[in-house]
Amino acid sequence: MTTRVAIIGAGPCGMAQLRAFQSTRDQGTPIPELVCYEKQQDWGGMWNYTWRTGLDEHGEPVHGSMYRYLWSNGPKECLEFADYTFEEHFGRPIGSYPPREVLWDYIKGRVEKAGVRDYIRFNNVVRQVTFDEETRRFTVVAHDHGSDTRTSEEFDYVINACGHFSTPKLPYFPGFEQFGGRILHAHDFREALEFKGKDLLIVGSSYSAEDIGSQCYKYGARSITSCYRTAPMGYDWPANWEEKPLLQRLEKNRAYFIDGTHKHIDAVILCTGYKHHFPFLPDELCLKTDNRLWPMNLYKGIFWEPNPQLIYLGMQDQWYSFNMFDAQAWYARDVILGRIQLPSQAEMIADSLQWHTREQTLETNQQMFEFQGAYIQQLVDATDYPNFDIAAVNDTFLHWKHDKAHDIMGYRDKSYRSLMTGTQSPPHHTPWLHALDDSMAAYLAGPPMSVKSIG
Ligand code: FAD
Ligand code: NAP
Repeated sequence: MTTRVAIIGAGPCGMAQLRAFQSTRDQGTPIPELVCYEKQQDWGGMWNYTWRTGLDEHGEPVHGSMYRYLWSNGPKECLEFADYTFEEHFGRPIGSYPPREVLWDYIKGRVEKAGVRDYIRFNNVVRQVTFDEETRRFTVVAHDHGSDTRTSEEFDYVINACGHFSTPKLPYFPGFEQFGGRILHAHDFREALEFKGKDLLIVGSSYSAEDIGSQCYKYGARSITSCYRTAPMGYDWPANWEEKPLLQRLEKNRAYFIDGTHKHIDAVILCTGYKHHFPFLPDELCLKTDNRLWPMNLYKGIFWEPNPQLIYLGMQDQWYSFNMFDAQAWYARDVILGRIQLPSQAEMIADSLQWHTREQTLETNQQMFEFQGAYIQQLVDATDYPNFDIAAVNDTFLHWKHDKAHDIMGYRDKSYRSLMTGTQSPPHHTPWLHALDDSMAAYLAGPPMSVKSIG
């Protein structure tokens, strides 16, 4: 009987998995039967922007958390595919911090070239996955919104590539009920211009807080106040941006903070992170973790230790992204093809525990991305994914961190050398703070005659 593999999600992780299988198929190795379920009508996951919030056209929770004017928040040189470079895709070197549409185009380019779109069932949402201990097979139940029918099929492996930045963590603060303005989570943020001229309160102190605050500053918010639970972001913010300790309560349009200070605000954006949320999985198959570098119970960061026929991709907190997903997908492929044998369950658990113990000792950013780099290195070493210079990627991360500390509104104007081709990226034609049009056409075109005003 042919081995059957279900892939849940055609975002960057699902696309990496399809590309991994296609690369061996093209070398003449027979591959399993693949079915990739994707609930949206196109591929690219988060990078496939949607204007929708709440429920989608089928009544499903909207997956997308990306917003207009989003630019990469790290150098593209740190996420470049080792088997498909930016230069190959765009035919020339481009800047280091592309906007969303440019990155979407890049990740699509590789899989269009690979010709794997036919493996994907779009508008198909996975509703339930179960495992039969006797047959050792999974049953995957999905709803096909194209034909409005329910399907049920059996598979030998399930690869969960559905992402983990989609279901919001939503804390409550007293006074929310009486507040006169908008309260939303970062997941539902789409348009910075909505907050032009407003006094904005941001809860949280991680990437969403930093970037959504920066977008709103760039597009004309009157003031930004961000507040933290554990530690401030600590950047040298512009004059109209203030960091405060955590919000305590709202009284009408006044926000009170735990240090007793208060401010007028017009809107609140909860940049409070996301839950790993897999409503289609029963407890015994379900990864339960916070957003961390080493989620527990995953051998090599991917195989579900209680049943390694279930594979999770991209569930880590992400310093590395696209090339880490590749390393994982290539490794998963080789286990499925029988090229790599998994050790006993006890050995898998012991191996994971070592990484977990090491994770607990990490204190600095540098230690964290070096930890993730070391993790990726051992995956790459085990497969034919092109080896790339992970020490050099770590070095680029370090420069990026210094650039941010030096100038939080200007770090995206820096450029780096590709670690795959060696080519130095050119500086982008317009400083990020003045580049209001984030379209691919504007990005790839020459400098504008004058800075275009939107809104
Ligand atoms: P996703 O991109 O989330 O894709 C998962 C796919 O699974 C989606 O297409 C979804 O529709 C599908 N799916 C979900 N549930 C089901 C189901 N039940 N049935 C069928 N299909 C399903 N990373 C970077 O490297 N650089 C950045 O600048 C960056 N910016 C980001 C900005 C924001 C606001 C967010 C939220 C994330 C950002 N990331 C960034 C991280 C980003 O999540 C990853 O780059 C990448 O998208 C993760 O890929 P994925 O395939 O794991 O998940
Ligand atoms: P995150 O990194 O998990 O951070 C969550 C934040 O919410 C933390 O600051 C956390 O504070 C805070 N928080 C959680 N619960 C809270 C509560 N009850 N009260 C107060 N604060 C609370 O999530 P994220 O910032 O949304 O980032 C998610 C992903 O999106 C990352 O991979 C990031 O790179 C990506 N992203 C990228 C861009 C871009 O520019 N391209 C933009 C946005 C997001 P503690 O520190 O106290 O836990």
